[in-house]
Amino acid sequence: VPVIALVGRPNVGKSTLFNRLTKTRDALVAEIAGLTRDRKYGEGKVGEYPFIVIDTGGISGQEEGIDEAMASQSFQAIKEADIVFFMVDVGAGITAGDRMIADYLRRSGKSAYLIANKIDGKNPDVVLAEFFELGMGEAIPIAAAHNRGITTLIDYVMEKLHPKVEPEEETGYLPDEAERAIEHEQLNIKGTKIAVVGRPNVGKSTLINRFLGEDRVVVYDEAGTTRDSIYIPYERHGQDYTLIDTAGIRRRKNITEAAEKFSIIKTLQAIQDCHVCILVLDARQGIVEQDLHMLSFVLNSGRALVIAINKWDGMDADDKQRVKDEIDRRFGFLTFAEMHFISALHGTGVGHLYDSVDQAYASAMAKWQTNMLTRILEDAVGSHQPPVVRGRRPKLRYAHQGGSNPPIIVVHGNLANDLPEDYRRYLANTFRRVLEIKGTPIRFEFRQGE
Ligand code: GDP
Repeated sequence: VPVIALVGRPNVGKSTLFNRLTKTRDALVAEIAGLTRDRKYGEGKVGEYPFIVIDTGGISGQEEGIDEAMASQSFQAIKEADIVFFMVDVGAGITAGDRMIADYLRRSGKSAYLIANKIDGKNPDVVLAEFFELGMGEAIPIAAAHNRGITTLIDYVMEKLHPKVEPEEETGYLPDEAERAIEHEQLNIKGTKIAVVGRPNVGKSTLINRFLGEDRVVVYDEAGTTRDSIYIPYERHGQDYTLIDTAGIRRRKNITEAAEKFSIIKTLQAIQDCHVCILVLDARQGIVEQDLHMLSFVLNSGRALVIAINKWDGMDADDKQRVKDEIDRRFGFLTFAEMHFISALHGTGVGHLYDSVDQAYASAMAKWQTNMLTRILEDAVGSHQPPVVRGRRPKLRYAHQGGSNPPIIVVHGNLANDLPEDYRRYLANTFRRVLEIKGTPIRFEFRQGE
């Protein structure tokens, strides 16, 4: 998944563009001690291509004190990114700060785009000319606040990232999926891919070490970068698994280091790439905003999910009850995911986690025949007819599977698009129950057709 960093002086409109690109209120924030403005991370999607966006505090050009801290945020973001959107303000002209950023970007060798924001009603031919001297090519005009130029911008960038190829290519070019399959084969990645995610210090590394077992010697490349998680293949009871380690288990010495090694990019990439995500929470800290944001990223990804509430050891009965109440209150909506109260440190409850992981994997990857899905649909309709819509009763004809991880069930019929929400939910619940789908969300699509 490509990572796009937004950089530029304060007030050029980075946050506005960030919100436009991610279209969500959920952002993960990398908190670095002593900073008033942090890096914000969010996900966006154009067509079928997801991307990650990083918003930064901004570089002012007079880097002292807090500005220096902000500059270091921007430089960090540039390092993490594949693509940089360098934003300038059409009305403000070029400043010393802009020259500094342009300079840094040229030296970084990153693929960077110069974005001229606040074009509003102005004539691009006239106002963009001055930005040529930054040496970054032609500026792309947008008006983030008015949502103008953004689709064009993203299409342009995505087209460069994913050049369209003819379906019957003889060029040796491989589409992303196939390329990844080959890469995985080389790395010996097999079986269920598990991503262990969570805030720093919730116990991810401890859990991973528990999974791998003290005596198992795991050989893998320790180098890793800030962005690439390490994949650790292993076997348990004759079954293959691969852990995606976002925590950097081998290199860690202490708790401060845990926080420093924590990478949101790794977390987001791991969620995208796994079959089953284990979200680790810290019972002693309770549920905090960052946990909920991380959860929302897992839910958006459609990945199967198991929740591990860690550090359950040594808590007294009152504290346990308080945590359970809090979980009921805040995660009540989350009906598909299994929850486990565990101690990664002592190994308590860890075996049962695997039961849920296996179950979730099986459901996420299950394959169902069209005739089976159609029979379930017919039975569901038989015992509970869809309500009349615009004077006609919808006639649902058949269902087929449109994908896995998450499973997609496509229901065909006339007026299928017009089914009311509660009837859709009834169908979803029926499929979930009959197919015994556990631990994964299901997506439903309704297709119109006689
Ligand atoms: P990570 O940053 O999420 O990888 O967290 P670590 O695995 O490094 O754990 C952070 C701290 O919590 C360490 O001091 C661990 O020993 C401690 N810890 C982890 N799991 C447990 C647990 O189940 N119970 C208790 N009491 N402490 C734990």
